Amino acid sequence: MSTSIEIKNLSRKFGSFHALRNVTLSVTAGEFVTLLGPSGSGKSTVLKLLAGFDQPTSGEILLGGRSMLGVMPHLRNVGMVFQNYALFPHMTVFDNIAFPLRVRNEPTVKIEDKVASVLDLTRMNEYRHRYPSELSGGQQQRVALARAIVFDPKVLLMDEPLGALDRHLREQLKFEIKRIQRQFNMTVLFVTHDQDEALVMSDRVVVMREGAIEQEASPHEIYARPVTRFVADFLGESN
Ligand code: ADP
Ligand code: MG
Repeated sequence: MSTSIEIKNLSRKFGSFHALRNVTLSVTAGEFVTLLGPSGSGKSTVLKLLAGFDQPTSGEILLGGRSMLGVMPHLRNVGMVFQNYALFPHMTVFDNIAFPLRVRNEPTVKIEDKVASVLDLTRMNEYRHRYPSELSGGQQQRVALARAIVFDPKVLLMDEPLGALDRHLREQLKFEIKRIQRQFNMTVLFVTHDQDEALVMSDRVVVMREGAIEQEASPHEIYARPVTRFVADFLGESN
């Protein structure tokens, strides 16, 4: 299988502080990989570097085999659902989702078709004329997901997309994300600090600590055989 995300010796320093230290990670096409770890361990930094919102101090990023050095975010063909990457408040649901296609100068007919199809997928069709402020948190996250996948990205990056939602909505959306990911065989790098989420959604879990990878393994393996005390303690904490 081809490698979709390749991170090689990635480092990010802020002044003398190492937010990431020599992180190397490959994600295969169609794989769902979750970054897990305490606050401040570098999870969001990895995603921001992949998205092109931030530049590494050293190291390499390849997406679909192509180096992303100097490639602008909107040219990376990566879908993103970030907590702080909100919907445009002055645009309707439809226009929010259409935005990535308009930026790409897609023809109107194609835009209509594609937006309709992702509105169906995320079960938001009846809300197409609403504004973000008229939606619940869960509905807003569905729209964010629709906007992230409307241009058929090969890679989807999600940074705690369910973090702000209540337990019931989280349960629901977590299965919808999986359903959509499987249907399109998308490659997903997902960030959470909810261990249940990591366990049920992922093919592989990567535990981070102080900017480095502490362990990467299948959910079963990592719970059954944590390689360090840190991993065991972290997974043992309830949340
Ligand atoms: P996580 O997502 O795992 O909570 P982050 O990747 O956001 O962690 O942050 C990793 C570390 O890098 C943290 O200690 C954070 O304070 C620091 N950091 C992140 N962004 C910046 C920045 N722009 N300037 C200075 N320090 C930063
Ligand atoms: Mg974070």
